[in-house]
Amino acid sequence: MLNKVVIANRGEIALRILRACRELGIKTVAVHSKADADLMHVRLADEAVCIGPAPSSSSYLSSHAIISAAEVTNADAIHPGYGFLAENADFAEQVEKSGFKFIGPTADVIRVMGDKVAAIEQMQKAGVPTVPGSNGPLTDDAARSMSVANKIGYPVIIKAAAGGGGRGMRVVEEEASLISSIALTKAESKAAFGDDTVYLEKFLGNPRHVEIQVLADGQGQAIHLGDRDCSLQRRHQKVIEEAPAPLIPDDLRNEVAEACTNACIQIGYRGAGTFEFLYEDGGFYFIEMNTRVQVEHPVSEMITGVDIVKEQLMIASGEKLSMTQDDIQFNGHAIECRINAEDPDTFMPSPGLIKHYHAPGGNGVRVDSHIYSGYKVPPHYDSLIAKIITYAPDRDTALTRMANALDELVIDGIKSNTALHQRLVRDTEFRCGGVNIHYLEHKLESEAK
Ligand code: ADP
Repeated sequence: MLNKVVIANRGEIALRILRACRELGIKTVAVHSKADADLMHVRLADEAVCIGPAPSSSSYLSSHAIISAAEVTNADAIHPGYGFLAENADFAEQVEKSGFKFIGPTADVIRVMGDKVAAIEQMQKAGVPTVPGSNGPLTDDAARSMSVANKIGYPVIIKAAAGGGGRGMRVVEEEASLISSIALTKAESKAAFGDDTVYLEKFLGNPRHVEIQVLADGQGQAIHLGDRDCSLQRRHQKVIEEAPAPLIPDDLRNEVAEACTNACIQIGYRGAGTFEFLYEDGGFYFIEMNTRVQVEHPVSEMITGVDIVKEQLMIASGEKLSMTQDDIQFNGHAIECRINAEDPDTFMPSPGLIKHYHAPGGNGVRVDSHIYSGYKVPPHYDSLIAKIITYAPDRDTALTRMANALDELVIDGIKSNTALHQRLVRDTEFRCGGVNIHYLEHKLESEAK
């Protein structure tokens, strides 16, 4: 088993990783910026190292500072959490070259999955369903691009192979604007990602976001922990997630999940990962793989009883998966609400002092949060301050528990989006299940009128 792990992240996920390490008897090193000395996990860690000033470019994104911290503390592994350097193949490579374990897949696998064209190709080989598209990058051959788009049918979407975070994409409604849109997306992609490779796929009009959680040991074993629906999004940011995804036939979800585990074995995947799909008219369409733990991992933990972060640590220790697919039982339903320090109406960030904090509790309520009364939310980072997760035998009860939990939650001193969640969990259509990725934005627009 690993002896000492550097937690190269902050906030709730850093605390989540610390808790998993403690359960496994692994020592922890918190690395933090100057603005983050009073984070909860920094207090609880065995050791803490300040790695730089507040801006993440000089701290949480400084691979040199993080690896140096691992060296001075004599740690043996680095957990990147999510965001920051979690999907940076060069960082993973440097970590391993410096003699530490990177808690995640190999740099090569991160690199392949970071290139969407290469990722789609791997998925097709493994039998994972993908969006009808150009099957490879678009070339300078305008006639060919036009014929590909015609065959697929408009609207189409042009996407940067190196894109991420919802950037580097352009929807094209008709042939007249195809060629100029390709040129624009190429130029933007070059500027944003240093790579102008773009590809084309069918634009799905009203999809849901459904994703599949996998665990693989890199030694030939892989399992899945079922699916999650994360369709409630605003500006490509997930707001509420749930597991399992409602209203999908079980034979279909199982078939796609099995294709994902096969893909893991085929690509030599190691660690926790997520296959993201758009789901429309009864079909799954792969869009990308995330090679790290996700914010919404707790809902899968609640319905399977598997601790995903502990599994990550055990896999990084070189252990084989301790369970087979047959050992995984799916029970009940879980919902997660992301509580952000932001204005519930304008969505502007609302950092500052939390004067008073009271977390909800009771049967089937889990709170993953680093905040406490007297904690000051710094203005420099993501505004996620808490994840409220509820679990119940059925979806309706899980939603009712969530409504009650949100009513119990008290965060005084700063603004939060709690009121938005309170409306959403009581929303008639959302309660029926299966709303698409545009539902939340449309609802907000119609409320604003
Ligand atoms: P990123 O890596 O930037 O998150 P994704 O490929 O995951 O990019 O796509 C981000 C979002 O863009 C999706 O969640 C979806 O809302 C939209 N999108 C991507 N591809 C398509 C498509 N083919 N049709 C419709 N919407 C799409």
